[in-house]
Formats: sequence, C-alpha cells, structure tokens
Amino acid sequence: MSAKKRVLVVEDNLFNMELVTDLLEANGYAVWQARTAEEGLQRAKLLPDLILMDISLPGMDGLTAIRSLRANPATAHLPVIALTAHAMRGDEETALGAGCDSYLTKPINTRTFAQSLAEVLETAGARQTLTATT
Ligand code: MN
Repeated sequence: MSAKKRVLVVEDNLFNMELVTDLLEANGYAVWQARTAEEGLQRAKLLPDLILMDISLPGMDGLTAIRSLRANPATAHLPVIALTAHAMRGDEETALGAGCDSYLTKPINTRTFAQSLAEVLETAGARQTLTATT
C-alpha cells in the first residue's frame, strides 16, 4: 500500500507543468507528463491513479478528452481533476458536465493543492470500494 500514487498531468503550459510536477513530487506522487490530450489519452490506458487535465490544450481540448475517457469502459472510472485557466463563469460547470470529479482554477493554489487531490482520491477510492461490495 506504500506504492506511490501515479498522477497523469496533461498540460501544455511548461511553467504550469513544472509547478504541478514539483508539487506532486514533493507530496510523494509519481508524475506522468503529457503535453497534449491525444498523448494524455494514450497514457491514461496505463491506468494512473488520478488525472489532472488542463482544459485549454492545442488540438483536442481537455473537455473532449474527459468525455473520451468517460466513454471508454477501461478508463471511465479514473478520477479526473480539470485545470481551468481562469475563473471564467461557467467553466467549472462545463468541466463537471464533461465528467470530471473536481476542478482546480489556475493559478494553482500551492497551499491547498495536495489536500484537493487527497480528497478526490479518497472519494474515488470509496466509490470503487462501494462498487466492489454491491
Ligand atoms: Mn493550456
């Protein structure tokens, strides 16, 4: 149970990718990086414990990628946190509507980041236990 949780980060902004990677590694997570949604969908097949998905990406956008993850039985259960660029009204609702579990608004709040992830992982874990026992 001490194995590191693996977090797939799909993010095209290098500064943000570096920040998120540093935060994750400092909190004991293993990080998989993807620069595009297409690459992210490929990596998602290897079943990370959690996906951080930027919404604004070149090529396929993050919302489309989240819908694609949810439509695939192999990846439908994976917890996904959307990264929304700035608090544009409606963005969060759109992201939740696409099927993500939660969202974080950029710029990332470095003090609450780890707790936000832990909560989503905990909720997802409880959901899978429930599914397994019913
Ligand atoms: Mn972006």
